[in-house]
Amino acid sequence: MSTPYDFIIVGAGSAGCVLANRLSADPGARVLLLEAGPPATHPDIEIPLAFPRLQRTALDWAYFTTPQAELAGRPIAWPRGKVLGGSSAINAMVYLRGRLADYASWGPNWCPDYVLPAFKRAENQQRPSLRDTHWHGASGPLDVADLRCVNPLSQAFVEAALSLGWSYNDDFNGATQLGAGLFQVTQRDGRRQSVAAAYLAPVRHRRNLQIITGALVRRLRFDGDRAVGVEFSRGPELLYAEAEREILLSAGSLESPKLLLLSGVGPAAELEAQGLRVRQSLPDVGRNLHDHPRVALPFRCQAPVSLLNAFTSEAQSEFHQFGTGPWTSNLAEAGAFHGDLQFHFLPLDLSNVGLDPTGHHGFTLAPTLLTPRSRGRLTLASADPAQAPIIDPGYLTHPADLAAMREGVGASYELAASAAFKVYGTTVGELPNVDALIRSRLDTCYHPAGACSIGTVVDQELRVRGVRGLRVVDASVMPMLPRGNTHTPVVMVAERAAAMLLGVD
Ligand SMILES: Cc1cc2nc3c(=O)[nH]c(=O)nc-3n(C[C@H](O)[C@H](O)[C@H](O)COP(=O)(O)OP(=O)(O)OC[C@H]3O[C@@H](n4cnc5c(N)ncnc54)[C@H](O)[C@@H]3O)c2cc1C
Repeated sequence: MSTPYDFIIVGAGSAGCVLANRLSADPGARVLLLEAGPPATHPDIEIPLAFPRLQRTALDWAYFTTPQAELAGRPIAWPRGKVLGGSSAINAMVYLRGRLADYASWGPNWCPDYVLPAFKRAENQQRPSLRDTHWHGASGPLDVADLRCVNPLSQAFVEAALSLGWSYNDDFNGATQLGAGLFQVTQRDGRRQSVAAAYLAPVRHRRNLQIITGALVRRLRFDGDRAVGVEFSRGPELLYAEAEREILLSAGSLESPKLLLLSGVGPAAELEAQGLRVRQSLPDVGRNLHDHPRVALPFRCQAPVSLLNAFTSEAQSEFHQFGTGPWTSNLAEAGAFHGDLQFHFLPLDLSNVGLDPTGHHGFTLAPTLLTPRSRGRLTLASADPAQAPIIDPGYLTHPADLAAMREGVGASYELAASAAFKVYGTTVGELPNVDALIRSRLDTCYHPAGACSIGTVVDQELRVRGVRGLRVVDASVMPMLPRGNTHTPVVMVAERAAAMLLGVD
């Protein structure tokens, strides 16, 4: 491609779409957004209830970890969105910021005074009592809404938590995160609002913004220590685009570190072993990989109240006509924060295979560890850009994580056994061998991060160390996961990065 751009953004996910919007707001800036996946036209994307069905389709990179030694040798499926909108187009839509204090540990550029305004800039809060308050914004691109249809089992979960003495929380993104309540979601009129819908759709017409889908970036090119362009393939074509100001890697927690490694930025010995020329020795690229582990625990109930009831043609047409009813459910309707744990509550027994409407009624409780101490690593499997990297998150390799998960499983059984669920005919058996249960069931809460951490791989302004003209802006820069889900934090990171690039920070 002959035209040089000012900015090239690699990956149109939670971070890339925000950058494309904010940077192209300056009509003098020529912006190219490259996305490996297709446009977001799949009909299931907008249906909240259908999100699990998007996994292992063409819209999912469908990664797997290595067999995990502490999980009885099981590899864990790691879905990642491969479509305009990235993982925000296939995720569960829970809107959570984490605790502002979490970001302070990332360094001086991420203290609450910087972070809170960036969250608010992104937000278009729909609950009237929260709009334009200390904690919430009302004029950002991202709609944040209360669920339109709450299953009675989700209300029972909140009651169960209160019966254990936990507090009620009607806004997990306000003064305190602790307690139990209903999650808010990134939806508009009951439909998923990915970042492609929120940030990209309104500005696609801008003449200084070019978006190319089906474009797989293979590696970066350098002039000396400056990143100057990206090589990418589109079908059989091999193409090249040049950036005069900056290249922004927003390819997500796994592909951004992979692209650095493929471009010769990483641990020298490892790159040389793959026959790659070392551009910049950075031993920490790929290290510090971590995730929020969770254990999904299914419980049955006799009363026919769960989301199994949603699989009817009436519910389908209600959704399509009015944007209401159970198809607006994001499944993870309710939750709680207690100690080091986040509990996700889903009013559906997920041991039913997929979303099989012939299954039995029940619910799933998923205790999730918010401050995992286990760390793993991402490495190249080969120098071929088409190959998936080797992903080893090292689940439970730190003993403190197993101890914390034991508490989560114990508390989940207590919650499930409470009077609030008995009303619906739930009987909870004896707590089984907890360690064996954890090792056989633990999997991902879909929040991988850390492989291009602030501090070691990128600096406080997300610039790759030792290289000019290159930043990483996505979940991979988080040196430590915030306590909560990761989509909104990534949007905040990209809002901050855009402000730094535009000099309005
Ligand atoms: C199933 C699931 C459920 C989740 N539920 C929630 C939730 O309820 N709430 C929440 O807050 N978080 C949730 N998350 C996590 C959250 O969605 C992610 O943390 C967040 O979207 C990551 O943003 P990102 O910008 O780092 O990467 P992504 O959004 O994954 O974007 C990366 C983009 O880069 C593209 N790309 C990658 N490599 C290349 C390449 N070589 N060339 C060109 N393009 C490339 C990808 O196709 C993708 O579009 C969930 C995630 C999943 C997978």
